[in-house]
Amino acid sequence: MKLHEYQGKELFRSVGLPVPNGEVATTPDQAAAIAGRLGRVVIKAQVHVGGRGKAGGVKVAATPEEARQVAGRILGMDIKGLTVHKVLVEPALDIQTEYYAGIVNDRASKRFILMLSSMGGVDIEDVAHTNPEAIIRLPIDPAYGLLDFVVYQAMREAGFSEAKSRELGRVLKGLYEALTRYDCLLAEINPLVITGDGRVVVADAKVDIDDNALFRHRDLLPYREESFDNEMDRQATEQGLTYVHLGGDIGVIGNGAGLVMNTLDVVTASGGKPANFLDIGGGAQADQVVKAMTMVLSDAAVKGLIFNIFGGITRCDEVARGMLQAAERMEIRVPVVVRLAGTQEEAGSELLQGSRYVPVASVQEAASKIQELIAV
Ligand code: GDP
Ligand code: MN
Repeated sequence: MKLHEYQGKELFRSVGLPVPNGEVATTPDQAAAIAGRLGRVVIKAQVHVGGRGKAGGVKVAATPEEARQVAGRILGMDIKGLTVHKVLVEPALDIQTEYYAGIVNDRASKRFILMLSSMGGVDIEDVAHTNPEAIIRLPIDPAYGLLDFVVYQAMREAGFSEAKSRELGRVLKGLYEALTRYDCLLAEINPLVITGDGRVVVADAKVDIDDNALFRHRDLLPYREESFDNEMDRQATEQGLTYVHLGGDIGVIGNGAGLVMNTLDVVTASGGKPANFLDIGGGAQADQVVKAMTMVLSDAAVKGLIFNIFGGITRCDEVARGMLQAAERMEIRVPVVVRLAGTQEEAGSELLQGSRYVPVASVQEAASKIQELIAV
């Protein structure tokens, strides 16, 4: 679950990190009122993408009237395909130094890795490409956590201010505390700022929480509503489906993540463009099939649909029955090819005979058949 900056900063604040005391606004008037309380402010678009600064989504305003105008421009703005509905209004910072600090889950080493750079700010992605040695990486042993000497060594290597090492070290340990307390996959501060008057400030927050751990963070559920970037993601989560939008025109539904991924590969290899990933899981009831088909077909770009079912515990005849019921309960506006294999496949295929579903014997055939049907 991706968090907005203001939400990430709430978590950071709860572990004692030095976060500016900002407030969220959804209208220019609200932004002006907040600026009236805070003075000179920075107004920041709350969307789930990086590079807001470069896209014009981070602007300073000196007066409430200017805050109103700036917020008016940022609210409703499109940043990399996402619409801005909220802005964070914070006291503007007199930035002297910008560092990068992040802790990220690294699958290869099965560790969290602390990453630091003294070249923080809006160009950190470029730094990662052109000057990777300017980013210090240190694996964190989960048995020991983030030890002081590791923190200080990393800060020295990264060229962090010696004069501010105590405050900076506290921030890095706080960042690790937040990461572990809230089961984050990623917790990042860019920029971590030293101001003209020598304060260390967490100026930005990027946090991604492991969905699989959400059951033990019920207090974070209010964040859920704002974590979806589009209507389809929201629907899928609400209905317990694993749906990923891929942008092509061939819908894909299967049982089992591996089987579905394989189907996507075969469709792509045969020159097709998958519209989505959708795993209906073990259940094969009509309800589940209707939900899955409704989901996939709500994407107007979908011109054809592949069902790829491998019967193990799931029985193909049950899936077939579910599909027939689905056809009675909903309008299916595109051709659908079905590959059934495994437990009770003959019975399943028999049931589908004479229906609107087109049986195929293999995934390869499914991929070529659906393109044929779409072409006519
Ligand atoms: P991002 O571009 O989406 O990562 O948004 P950031 O919160 O990192 O802001 C981008 C840049 O805005 C920062 O790197 C700063 O250089 C610049 N900036 C200028 N004034 C301020 C300020 O008062 N506060 C913050 N947070 N950033 C500022
Ligand atoms: Mn940033």
